Amino acid sequence: MTIFNTTKSEEIFANAQKLMPGGVSSPVRAFKSVGGQPIVFDRVKGAYAWDVDGNKYIDYVGTWGPAICGHAHPDVISALHETLDKGTSFGAPCIHENTLAEMVIDAVPSIEMVRFVNSGTEACMSVLRLIRAFTGREKLIKFEGCYHGHADMFLVKAGSGVATLGLPDSPGVPKSTAVSTLTAPYNDLEAVKALFEENKDEIAGVILEPVVGNSGFIPPDAGFLEGLRVLTQENGALLVFDEVMTGFRIAYGGAQEKFGVTPDLTTLGKVIGGGLPVGAYGGRKDIMAMVAPAGPMYQAGTLSGNPLAMMAGIKTLELLQKPGTYEQLDKITKKLSEGLLSIAKEAGIAVFGGQISAMFGMFFTGNPVHNYEDAKKSDLNKFSRFHRGMLERGIYLAPSQFEAGFTSLAHTEADIDQTLAIAKEVLSSL
Ligand SMILES: *Cc1c(COP(=O)(O)O)cnc(C)c1O
Repeated sequence: MTIFNTTKSEEIFANAQKLMPGGVSSPVRAFKSVGGQPIVFDRVKGAYAWDVDGNKYIDYVGTWGPAICGHAHPDVISALHETLDKGTSFGAPCIHENTLAEMVIDAVPSIEMVRFVNSGTEACMSVLRLIRAFTGREKLIKFEGCYHGHADMFLVKAGSGVATLGLPDSPGVPKSTAVSTLTAPYNDLEAVKALFEENKDEIAGVILEPVVGNSGFIPPDAGFLEGLRVLTQENGALLVFDEVMTGFRIAYGGAQEKFGVTPDLTTLGKVIGGGLPVGAYGGRKDIMAMVAPAGPMYQAGTLSGNPLAMMAGIKTLELLQKPGTYEQLDKITKKLSEGLLSIAKEAGIAVFGGQISAMFGMFFTGNPVHNYEDAKKSDLNKFSRFHRGMLERGIYLAPSQFEAGFTSLAHTEADIDQTLAIAKEVLSSL
């Protein structure tokens, strides 16, 4: 093994810390939870990333989800070049908005109409305004460990015991905002039922990641999504699937297609921007008709629906439409996930994990993980050492136990074999 040299990364990051809080533009990029320093990337292509010191990595972060066709796919890049020559932003309607809207509406079962925004955060905060506008109610149910962007109303988790009163997770979030956000443990229908009973006719809706990626990879238990569909309907509340991560990843039509449960509204991001900043929210026509200028609920964006972002999304979805793409994603991801779990077991390390389509995860705990509380029982020290060992040998994993892993159409069987060989070396040395 060659010596892992990150001198240039270290220099650049030292400077960055003087210029920007924590040296990063988004906290997840700092290596806070695994120790050490973030790697500064120079370029990405296909399944690989190269850092500023010339180290090459097999990348399982994929810019946190968007790179499902592999980084910088030639079809996406060449379409972007062509679009770029016509200008970067119109501030007026463009045809590509129609094209991408049609593709999204065709693909995602719940979406009859869609509004484009610039990030997943924007999509989620807008959809919350919309469910409040539509129902005339203020309260929201979310789940512990689910992330819906950084808007005030979502930066809340349960206090201890039964949560009827939200407590803000971050200074700067007003108590008055947090108080209308109720939380329940993921996969716990009884807790949701209790919240509905305690807050009769006050709950506008329930929002969740239909497959969790933001407290590590946690799939829904059998009946959980179906149960939420029934409970929301019985209580006159709306069901929102936050598919910013799972949309076009779990299946072309998202987790709602995979599990056959149709929410009232859906948020999207990541993959639909093909690596450019895009988010979207959409759903039932009668609800979307409330959005300005069709209706009274205000929401706007200077750069929303800009031609470059729309084109990157269109080309990415076109690539995903080719026959066999999701079978391929599932096949290589299953090989990776099953390989990792069996190597860990052979090495005598307690792990729990799995995958669906191009999303996977492995917790360093022997117990099943159904929610964030379970996930928190993972051995974080072991994860850190695993992460570091993989990184030093050219495997780039998300720098946190509480993140899902992502594969892409560019990952080959050989990439997976190489990853597993390295994992064997690292796991047996922990
Ligand atoms: C990433 C993510 C968001 C936030 O999207 P940004 O584009 O980072 O603002 C919201 N919800 C889920 C489920 C996500 O994974």
